[in-house]
Amino acid sequence: MRGANRPRVLVAGMQYEVNSFTAGTGTLEIFRKRRMAEGEEVFATSHGDEVAGARAVAARRGVELVPVFLTFGGAGPILEDDAYHYMRDRILAGVRREAGRIDGIYLPLHGAMATKGFSDAEGDLISRIREIVGREMPIIASFDMHANFTAEMERGLDGAVGFKTCPHVDYPETGEAAMEILCKAMAGEAEPIIVHRKVRMMTSAEGHDTTTGPMTEVIALLRKVEATPGVLSATVIAPQPWMDVPELGWSILVVVDGEAAVPAGRREADRIGRHVWGMRERFRSNRISLDEAFDAVAASADAERPFVLSDASDAPSAGSFGDSAVVLQHLLSRPPLAGPLLLTMTDPVATRACHAAGVGTRLALTIGAAFQPIYYTPVTIEARVLRLAEGPYVSELPPVHLDAGLRAVIEVAGFIQILLSEKPVITLDLRGYEASGMYPREAKAVIVKSAGQFRGFYSPFAFRIIELETPGPVDSQLPRLPFKQITRPLWPFDPDLAEPWQGAGSPS
Ligand SMILES: [Zn+2]
Repeated sequence: MRGANRPRVLVAGMQYEVNSFTAGTGTLEIFRKRRMAEGEEVFATSHGDEVAGARAVAARRGVELVPVFLTFGGAGPILEDDAYHYMRDRILAGVRREAGRIDGIYLPLHGAMATKGFSDAEGDLISRIREIVGREMPIIASFDMHANFTAEMERGLDGAVGFKTCPHVDYPETGEAAMEILCKAMAGEAEPIIVHRKVRMMTSAEGHDTTTGPMTEVIALLRKVEATPGVLSATVIAPQPWMDVPELGWSILVVVDGEAAVPAGRREADRIGRHVWGMRERFRSNRISLDEAFDAVAASADAERPFVLSDASDAPSAGSFGDSAVVLQHLLSRPPLAGPLLLTMTDPVATRACHAAGVGTRLALTIGAAFQPIYYTPVTIEARVLRLAEGPYVSELPPVHLDAGLRAVIEVAGFIQILLSEKPVITLDLRGYEASGMYPREAKAVIVKSAGQFRGFYSPFAFRIIELETPGPVDSQLPRLPFKQITRPLWPFDPDLAEPWQGAGSPS
C-alpha cells in the first residue's frame, strides 16, 4: 500500500465473445456501437454490471476507483488486430499514467476475445499490464462463464472469479466478489493465489443453464468449496464452444489465501474437475428435427401454448447473424399451423423494403442468408407489413441498449409473424419482440435464437421448450464444426479420452 492515503484501484476492461465460425471479421465499430467508455464514462455507462458491483464494495471499504477504459462488443466474428491494439493501448496508457499512484487493478473482462493475430487477447493484455506494474501489484479479473481461461491469464493474475449464473444475472455479484478479494489483498488481509485446473472437455451451451440440469449441481459444489477455510472463491469456466483457439476447455479456478492453502485448493479443484468430467455426457444437447418439433406443435390442443423453440445454431448472442431462413422454409413446406408463430430474422434489404412500402402493404420479399450464405439460402415469400419500428430498446440480458436498426413485422402464410431487423441483436429475453409489438406469451409458438440463456425468461410461461436441430455457426454438434487450432485430445472431439487433465502439473 502507498502510505496512509485512501487505496486507489484502476478499473479497465474489454468484453467480447468471438465466434470463429461466423462470417467476416470485426472492427472497433462493434464496440463503438455498443459500449466504448473512457474515464468517468465508464461509470456513467455502468448499469447493473460488474463495475456497479465493484463500486459498491469500493464505497463500503473506502477505496477510490480510477476508471480508465471499458468496452462491450457482445459476440461476433474474429476481430481485426487493430481493434484489439486500440483497446489494449488505451488501457496500457492508463496503467502507465497511474502506475505510481494505484494500489491494485480490477479488470472486468469477458475472456473470449480472439483476433487474427492473438488467440488469447486478454492473456496478452494481462501480461503487458503485469510488465508495467510489476509482480507486487495485486491484479484481479472477473470473467464470463463462457470465457476460455489460459495459462497466460493464470500467470499474470492474482485472482480470477467468474459468473455463477446462466442466464447471467450475477454481473454485480461477480464484480463484488472480485473487488472483495482485491481489497483484502491491498489491506494485507489475504494473499490471493489462483489454483487452475484445466479439464479436457467442451460442452455445448444448452447444458450451461444454472437453473436446471447438471450445472445446478456444479454451482452447489462451488458454493460448498467457497465455504472451506482458506478458499476465497471457486469458479467453473465452461467456454462458449464456437471459439477455435488453443487451450480450449473447461477450467476450474479456486482462489486460495496464501501458499499454505494451495494444496487444499488443488484438492478442491481436482474434486470439482473430476465431478464435471464424470457428468460430461449429461451436458450433451438434445436437439430434435424440425419435422418432429412442428409435428408436436401441430398435434397440440389450442390452449397448449406457447411452444418455445430454440434455433440456437443461428444465435446472435453467440456470434451468428440471425439470418437463417431454415425454420421459415420448413414451415412453408408443411400445412399451415395455428398461429401466431413468431420468429426473428436479420435482413437489412428486406427491412428497408418494408419501411419504403409502409404498413398494410403486401409485397414479395426475398429474405434470409443476408450475411451467411455459407450456411443458409434465401426464400421468396408473399408478406404483409403489419408494423414498423425503429430505435434502440433496453434489453434485460445483457442490461444494455440494443440497436437493431429499422425493424418491420411482417405476416406470412397467415400464421407466421416475422420480426425483420436491419442489424443482428442478441435475443435472450422478450424485449426485442415486445419492443416491436409482438407478445410471445400469447403466441402459439415462438422461435428464439439462443442456445440456453433464453430459458430463464421463457420457461416460466412456456408450454414446452424444444431445441431444434438446425445448421449454422452455433452448431451444438461440436465435432461437425471446422475446428483447426484446439489443443487435442479434447472431449468430445476425442470421445474415448480416458482422463480429464490438461496442462502442467498432475492432479493430487
Ligand atoms: Zn456467457
